[in-house]
Amino acid sequence: MHTAVDTQLIQALDSAHFLHPFTDLKDLQARGARVITRAQDIYVWDSEDRRMLDAMSGLWCVNVGYGRKELADAASQQMMTLPYYNSFFQTTNVPAAKLAAKLAALAPDVGERSFKHVFYSSSGSESNDSNVRMVRRYWDLLGQPQRKTIISRMNAYHGSTMAGASLGGMRDMHAQGDLPIPGITHIGQPYFFENGAPGESAEDFGVRAAGWLETKILEVGAEKVAAFIAEPLQGAGGVIIPPASYWPEIQRIVDKYGILLISDEVICAFGRLGHWFGYEKFGYKPDLITFAKAITGGYIPLGGVMVGNRVAKVLIEQGGEFTHGYTYSGHPVACAVALANLDIMERENLPGRVRDDVGPYLARAFAQLETHPLVGVAETCGFVGGLVLVRNPQTREKFKADLNVGMVCRGHCFANGLIMRAVGDRMIIAPPLTMTHAQIDEMLALIVKCLDSTY
Ligand code: PLP
Repeated sequence: MHTAVDTQLIQALDSAHFLHPFTDLKDLQARGARVITRAQDIYVWDSEDRRMLDAMSGLWCVNVGYGRKELADAASQQMMTLPYYNSFFQTTNVPAAKLAAKLAALAPDVGERSFKHVFYSSSGSESNDSNVRMVRRYWDLLGQPQRKTIISRMNAYHGSTMAGASLGGMRDMHAQGDLPIPGITHIGQPYFFENGAPGESAEDFGVRAAGWLETKILEVGAEKVAAFIAEPLQGAGGVIIPPASYWPEIQRIVDKYGILLISDEVICAFGRLGHWFGYEKFGYKPDLITFAKAITGGYIPLGGVMVGNRVAKVLIEQGGEFTHGYTYSGHPVACAVALANLDIMERENLPGRVRDDVGPYLARAFAQLETHPLVGVAETCGFVGGLVLVRNPQTREKFKADLNVGMVCRGHCFANGLIMRAVGDRMIIAPPLTMTHAQIDEMLALIVKCLDSTY
C-alpha cells in the first residue's frame, strides 16, 4: 500500500538536519535524498511509489527479505515483557542466553577452536573494536604483552570506528583522522583479476597472495603479532573472491606462527555463502568470528564476536574482569528478533537453498554477463556477485578513473528500478536469500538493461 509522504518536506528536513554517513552532503543537498518509505519481499518503494528490486538486501543484511511479521511480533512481545536490562552486573536475560547457545550450536565443531561463547555488541564496527581489546587481553594474560600487532588487508572493510576503520584497508578512510591507529598493519588483497601476474594461474596467485602474510609476520617479528583479521571474501571492497588455494595457505601460516585468526563474517555469515558461517565455505578454522547485519535480518541492530575455546578459556579462567562492554550488549529485544530470524532461516533452509539451489542458479545466470561488451569478469560465491566494468574485455583495458563508470551504471540502475552497488569499477550484488528463480531472472534482465544503458 502506498504511504502518502510529502517528499519535498522530508527532503527539506533531511538536508537541513541529517548528516548522512559516507555521503558528500553538499552534493546530496543539491539532489535531495530519495525517500524510502516501505518494503516487501525483495522490493523497496520510494515516496513517489517507485518500486526497486533490492539486489543489495539493504546493506547486506535483509537475508530473509522484507515484511516478516514474525520478526515484528518477536520484537513487540519482548518489548512488552522486558524491553531492556543490562548484562553488566551479574544479570542476564532469556533471549540473550538462548541466542548465545543457539549460535554455539550452529557453529561446526572444530576441536580447540570450537565456539561455545558469544560477546555481544550492536554492530560490526563495535564487534571489531571488541576483537582488538580481546586479542590483546588474551596475549597479555598469556604473558606475551608484546604481541600487539594485528595484520589486516588492503581494501578490507571492518567498520567505521577508530579501530574498525584502522583494521579496514580503505585508503580514503585512513586519510581522514590519522589512521590506522598504532599496532595495525596491512598486506595486499587476493584480487586475481587485478593483481595476477601475466601467465600466472589463479591458484598460484592465491598461494603467492597468502605468502604476503608470512612476509609481513617476519617483517614485524612473529613474537609481536597478535592476530590476522580477514573477511572470508572481501564484501564492501567489491566482492573480491579469493582463489581456492588462498585460505589453506593462510591457515598454514597462522598455525605455523601461533597467531590468532579473526574471521570477519559481518557479511558472509548466516547463509550468504551457502553455510551458517563463511569460514565453512573456505574450510579454515578461525579463533574469533565477527558477526552483525543478517543475524537479525537487519530488522534491528545486533552484532557480536563468537569466541573460540582457545581464547575463551584464557579469558574466563585466567582473566578476572574484562573491562569492556556496551550498554546494549545482549539487548533482549535484538536477541529475541535474532532467535526468530534464525528460526526462519532454519525452517526455510536458507543456507542449504543458497548452497544447492539458488546459488548455483545465480552463478550460471551471472556468468552469462561475461558476454556483455562492458564486462571483464562476472563471478559469484553463494549469494554475492561482482562484475568488473572494462573498456575492452579482451585486453582488460580499464576506464579512466575520472569517468566513474560504476557511478554512471549505478545511476542507470536507480532509474531502472534496481538497487545495485558500485565500488570503483565493480558492480556488486548481495540479494535476499529468499529469491525465487523467476526473481533471479528478473534481476538479471534488469542488470543487462542497466549495462546496455551504460554502454
Ligand atoms: N565488517 C564487515 C566485513 C562489514 O562488511 C561491515 C559493514 O559493512 C562492518 C564490519 C561494519 O559493520 P557496521 O556497519 O554494522 O558497524
